Amino acid sequence: MKTSKSLHTATLRYASTPPTSDQIKSISQILQKRFNNPDISLEIKQDPNVSGGFVINYDNYEYDWSDKGREDQLESGLIVSHDHFLRRHNDEDNIISILKGRIEEFELYAEAREIGTVLEIGDGIATIKDVGAVNYGEILLFDDGTRGMVQDIQRNSVGCILFGDQRGIRAGSRVVRMNREAGISVGEDYLGRVVDALGAPLDGGPNIRPVDYYPIEQPAPGIAERQSVHQPLETGILSIDTMFPIGRGQRELIIGDRQTGKTSIALDTIINQADKDVMCIYVAIGQKASTVAKLVNTLKQHDAMRYTTVVAAMASDPAPLQYIAPYAGTAMAEYYMHRGQHALIIYDDLSKHAVAYRSLSLLLGRPPGREAYPGDIFYLHSRLLERSAKLSDELGGGSITALPIVETQAGDVSAYIPTNVISITDGQIFLEADLFFEGMRPAVNVGLSVSRVGSSAQTEAIRKSSGSIRIDLAQYREMAVFTQFSSDLDDMTKKQLAHGQVLMELLKQRLGRPMPMTDQVITLIVANGGLLDSIPKDQVKLIQRRMLNWFHHRQEKICLELRQEKYLPDRLRQEILECAREYLKSPDAADEKLENEPY
Ligand code: ATP
Ligand code: MG
Repeated sequence: MKTSKSLHTATLRYASTPPTSDQIKSISQILQKRFNNPDISLEIKQDPNVSGGFVINYDNYEYDWSDKGREDQLESGLIVSHDHFLRRHNDEDNIISILKGRIEEFELYAEAREIGTVLEIGDGIATIKDVGAVNYGEILLFDDGTRGMVQDIQRNSVGCILFGDQRGIRAGSRVVRMNREAGISVGEDYLGRVVDALGAPLDGGPNIRPVDYYPIEQPAPGIAERQSVHQPLETGILSIDTMFPIGRGQRELIIGDRQTGKTSIALDTIINQADKDVMCIYVAIGQKASTVAKLVNTLKQHDAMRYTTVVAAMASDPAPLQYIAPYAGTAMAEYYMHRGQHALIIYDDLSKHAVAYRSLSLLLGRPPGREAYPGDIFYLHSRLLERSAKLSDELGGGSITALPIVETQAGDVSAYIPTNVISITDGQIFLEADLFFEGMRPAVNVGLSVSRVGSSAQTEAIRKSSGSIRIDLAQYREMAVFTQFSSDLDDMTKKQLAHGQVLMELLKQRLGRPMPMTDQVITLIVANGGLLDSIPKDQVKLIQRRMLNWFHHRQEKICLELRQEKYLPDRLRQEILECAREYLKSPDAADEKLENEPY
């Protein structure tokens, strides 16, 4: 409770020169008018911490008329006009005159700032009182320069998560309300860079010049603003592009135990986006810094960083940064989508994100629910993933495709976070540890994986050539288990087993070797035609590679037609089968110099 004295007294602090009686009079008048209270009187104090000029406090407002305060206000005023100007005109030359005008206009005015006090601090959370009518998600600035975001609003206090070190903050420290929601700078300058969850460079490179400032939380596009997914987002991974195709604007979950190749699928997809006009954003949440460094290196080696931004909140970063990293990454992706471009965003991984949010919520005193996660964890992830969309043509037709990653424990997809994210996304690619250890890499489980919207985005040629591969594989897996120990099999079963084995071999793919559409189509037609069934298992990959090579050199016309038309008339299918038969009569004779990297 405030005493009646404090209700009517404003404090004026000065450094060395006290204000004149005229100044005191006019300041009192200004305050009385501003707060509509004729009884306000001024209490004058000397304070060596004030740098020239004076600072006035009333209630939880502060007017900073000190030299330092005015300097700060001028600076932030200049930054705002600079950003505004660039956003509208994108023209650096005229900006100087605008900024000059801004300096000339700058009067010795001071804006009222709302000031609060820290009640409690600990574990990266500050409880603050008297900071005014703040909103959820607003930014607060602490005296030591640390920023925080309001996450919890109580009757008499607010809970704020800190984005930096808490060591400079104590109970009683001052907090300034910034009147701004949390956001991140965006722009093309972020391509090729590794940044933290607040957009600051982590790669030691030059400063980033943003084009715009986006709030990290934005409402998802509504139904009328979207259109259905119809353009393919090719991963370059044969098993995914044929059986679980992904379209631009789709959300496809990658789920599996630890060390089953989840990140590798995401990386290969990024690598395959070279020259496809898709901007990629990889959000690393709660991973080791060394893992992220390795991954950036892989992307650099494949020249994929020029169209990629890595947003990293490491395991050693405070939970609030891990919590906002995916939202910040999505804001960066939205920048491209709103301009009619295409973006691909990878959240690696949402299990760690959920854990970061759980620790925040528990520290904020929210009641724990299932597996101790707070009740709104589902909303948290759906709010995030709904922002991936394919926009309507009127809005430019841009898209965000999301590949969230979730880690399971011992293949248990029915745990809390996996079921949540499965139900939010448009399908999942399930990676199985057993398959991985058998040497089947990527270890996609055909039975449990699904893509609900992608097939309408699949290239005509791939759709027609993939045939019944999914069913064949599922049957093979079942039969392989069933016939494991039996010795006398009928011919039909033997044939099916041989065919399944060849398919499994063909679907194996090495890291960082995306397969172009033409090669996928030829492989599928030949495999589905059963032409490779008689080849011993360990030769299949070699023959595939040689055959594709031969097609590229000797059958350029077929490859060109496929690449250009992306369509597969029956005539072309027959032609490919004919050629393949021809080649397979003497696979070794036609051995070109193997310039193609094996898949
Ligand atoms: P984590 O749970 O630690 O994040 P993860 O599921 O993301 O692991 P990756 O890091 O992608 O798995 O891969 C694990 C290991 O498997 C890596 O050493 C990687 O090189 C290897 N690997 C993944 N996919 C393939 C592949 N197609 N061919 C060969 N090796 C692979
Ligand atoms: Mg991983």
